[in-house]
Amino acid sequence: AAQEGFDTDEVAADLTGGGHAPLPVLAVVGRPNVGKSTLVNRILGRREAVVEDRPGVTRDRVSYEADWNGRRFRVVDTGGWEQDVLGIDASVAQQAEVAIEAADAVLFVVDAVVGATDTDQAVVRLLRKSGKPVVLAANKVDGPSGEADAAALWNLGLGEPYPVSALHGRGSGDLLDAVLSALPEAPQLDFAGAGQGGPRRIALIGRPNVGKSSMLNKLAGETRVVVDSTAGTTRDPVDELIELGGKTWKFVDTAGIRRRVHLTEGADYYASLRTAAALEKAEVAVVLIDVSEPLAEQDTRIVSMAVEAGRAVVLAYNKWDVLDEERRFYLEREIEKDLVQVRWAPRVNVSARTGRHLEKLVPAIETALEGWETRVPTGRLNGFLGELVAAHPHPIRGGKQPRILFGTQASTRPPRFVLFASGFLEAGYRRFVERRLREEFGFAGTPIDISVRVRE
Ligand code: GDP
Ligand code: GDP
Repeated sequence: AAQEGFDTDEVAADLTGGGHAPLPVLAVVGRPNVGKSTLVNRILGRREAVVEDRPGVTRDRVSYEADWNGRRFRVVDTGGWEQDVLGIDASVAQQAEVAIEAADAVLFVVDAVVGATDTDQAVVRLLRKSGKPVVLAANKVDGPSGEADAAALWNLGLGEPYPVSALHGRGSGDLLDAVLSALPEAPQLDFAGAGQGGPRRIALIGRPNVGKSSMLNKLAGETRVVVDSTAGTTRDPVDELIELGGKTWKFVDTAGIRRRVHLTEGADYYASLRTAAALEKAEVAVVLIDVSEPLAEQDTRIVSMAVEAGRAVVLAYNKWDVLDEERRFYLEREIEKDLVQVRWAPRVNVSARTGRHLEKLVPAIETALEGWETRVPTGRLNGFLGELVAAHPHPIRGGKQPRILFGTQASTRPPRFVLFASGFLEAGYRRFVERRLREEFGFAGTPIDISVRVRE
């Protein structure tokens, strides 16, 4: 959003769009080679999901924002999962299970030409058990002669098979209409009360073994736990309401924490999927980091996911009970070096095992949520910007000196600012503006987004 013309409509869109509203989640599941990725690209209307892939590299991105007939939803593509996983049947079922759990509705893709296989049948059983809405895509129906193959899939007992050609687009409109009617308007959890007295929604995230389930148990064990039954799943609670510090909090997507999927291959990928799903439904992310081990690339990736999702962030350094002096020294340096992107996040040093300092979690979460919801009145913002520009003008570039003319905070949760400038503002200057904004107005625990509109 760097160099754009001055456009009040866009600002209006910013003001109403928010950009980070939770979206319902559609998981696309099925055997390898049935055409899931092709179909996801078809849904997205672009080639993004597949083409970026390098062979043998697990995809980083697991979900994509889609839009059909003006309704937005999130598509979780499981097409990249198969690559390294041994034992296709077992892995398809496991993938499906994880994906189904994270989704509000499932698009089950079957190769109509091949017909239903035993693996497909195994997925059908999982789908039934989940009770989630399912749309059945009978793919590779490239022409009218394939319709009979599609009809044969009625016997899967999942209702109407939608004949589609992911490759050519045939039937995809009807399929997407069916997907929209299967998806709830909003995610399955009630967001109506968001920010208006309903319990705040927390995602506990972090790579496997950092202590998420230990922390959840410790927090739940010491207080009243109410299982949230609104999700209506047949087995584990999706969310749990836990009373902490005199308030009720909703821990989202806890089924994924409590039911640990034991996997060797692809474990990172499942973790990413769960993280994306939990973030989608949360307001604040508590990112657990294991201090007994060096910071891993996966840790920073998870932190980035929370920031990119626009959630409030708290860093919980867990296993503090086993931190030794040497490690402690390196830890501080790692934080400086690898976690600069969230230097604004409140930090708690805890032990899920002993309960050490867990009582500090709630104040940290409250601080982060407060920052996340801060709104700076336009008058105050422009007073601040005026002083900033006078004291620290943008460096002169090519004989020109771009100036910030004025600004407005377009939205909260997280705070997003639109600055109007007389020329392009370079990255260093923008970072400086962000730093000064934080110094002036707080914003602890929240990413902030600054976009610049150039006024010709
Ligand atoms: P995934 O493993 O389920 O994600 O499957 P892909 O999307 O990678 O597709 C597997 C293969 O099937 C590719 O060669 C696709 O080009 C092909 N394919 C996908 N959809 C269709 C379709 O609708 N018709 C035909 N004929 N081929 C398709
Ligand atoms: P998850 O995969 O993130 O849910 O992690 P778990 O809660 O299953 O914890 C992984 C391992 O770390 C288990 O053996 C826990 O007992 C251990 N663990 C979790 N929290 C702590 C802690 O605060 N201190 C110590 N020493 N071990 C912990």
